[in-house]
Amino acid sequence: MNNSKVVLHKAAEILQNVSPVLEDEVICAYVRSFQRQRQLFLDFAARHDTPVYLFDEDVLLQRAEQFTTAFSQEIPGIRAFFAMKSNNHPAVAKSLVEFGLGLDVSSGLELETAIATGCQNIIFSGPGKTEAELDLAVANAAVVTVLIDSFGELDRLERVSRSLNAVVRAGVRLTTEEKGLWRKFGVPLAELESFMTRAENFEHLRVCGLQFHTSWNLTPSSQVSFLIRLGKQLATMKRQRAKNIEFLDIGGGYWPSRGEWLHFSATPQGRITHLVLPDIRQTERYRYPAEPLEVFAREIGKTLRQNIFPYVDCKIFTEPGRWLVNDAMHILLTVVDKKGEDLVIVDGGTNIVGWERFETDYFPVINLSNPSFTERKCFIFGSLCTPHDVWGYSYFGDGIEPGDILMVPSQGAYTYSLRQSFIKPLAPMFPLQT
Ligand SMILES: *Cc1c(COP(=O)(O)O)cnc(C)c1O
Repeated sequence: MNNSKVVLHKAAEILQNVSPVLEDEVICAYVRSFQRQRQLFLDFAARHDTPVYLFDEDVLLQRAEQFTTAFSQEIPGIRAFFAMKSNNHPAVAKSLVEFGLGLDVSSGLELETAIATGCQNIIFSGPGKTEAELDLAVANAAVVTVLIDSFGELDRLERVSRSLNAVVRAGVRLTTEEKGLWRKFGVPLAELESFMTRAENFEHLRVCGLQFHTSWNLTPSSQVSFLIRLGKQLATMKRQRAKNIEFLDIGGGYWPSRGEWLHFSATPQGRITHLVLPDIRQTERYRYPAEPLEVFAREIGKTLRQNIFPYVDCKIFTEPGRWLVNDAMHILLTVVDKKGEDLVIVDGGTNIVGWERFETDYFPVINLSNPSFTERKCFIFGSLCTPHDVWGYSYFGDGIEPGDILMVPSQGAYTYSLRQSFIKPLAPMFPLQT
């Protein structure tokens, strides 16, 4: 087939695979769960200026409890490390550390925040760690395990460690996809043996672990298939070397079981339709379902018993971010201007989210001041000087007026830590329970 034929063929295939519609009842039940606590949220808004992040620590701790319960049942002794990049507010990390989790950091900055929480169990992963970052990790070797990203980093860490006369606990990150963008992470499985051979010559490092991470997991299939590949590799490893492997870190990437909620334009069909008919605006929303966490725990546990534990007797680590923190923060906004029944401007811009999230992702906008289960069409714009500053295309409420308090729920993951100083100030975060 020539190129344009391939494109057309692909387009036809995508259009046939219709995305699942997000049902109104599902959205309504979700909205109801927040309407029930409406007075609590309005009291909070009366105590703090908007725009503001509301941190619900009870929800965070419930998620931490559910996560550790589900995984400990299937994988006894598993340790969870909260991935700080998903939400870098120190109060979130501190709360999870007090609960008993470790922290997974990806920069010197995050490492400093993690150390300040008093956390005794930190893993430091990520590509391209600088000399200064390695220095900081080695200086805190009592509480930090470094997950080495490459052969070059192995040499650099040994050098830093020798100069500080320390011995550092470390692991090696493995590449899950040898082609494409994810190649940037880790060492290919085919080079694991030579990596271990090199590491064994270094006196200031104790390389005793393996790590991999896959992202956006709506199901456990990526984690399971990499574990199967890893098991085949470990089957060929010498027993003495396999004995030195004390931990296997299976990464994070668990998607919340509510699934992924998208506007039509962000679905594969929507993107194609947009190319042909750029002005079409379809109001339907779509939902890509995700498996419950218990299914991840069960499937990963089973794969570990069948494919990994016969060859290495190791502890299992995991690095959840999004799954823990997604529902623990909400954004509250106030309507400033009403320019028509179908267009309002609120006091916060999407710079407090850091990206044009709501052009693709759907979250209901809830009018706390004038509650209703009816969803009304209306552009909910922020106050930045750009038309991409949009919070939604509808709201749940019985009308909308200047002064009304609006809530955008479940904004705990990959928003606060991506916020940016752009035109308007950053928004502060306050805990709900004070
Ligand atoms: C981002 C990241 C995580 C957390 O991913 P979530 O999707 O937030 O669970 C865990 N480990 C590593 C190495 C990461 O880069």
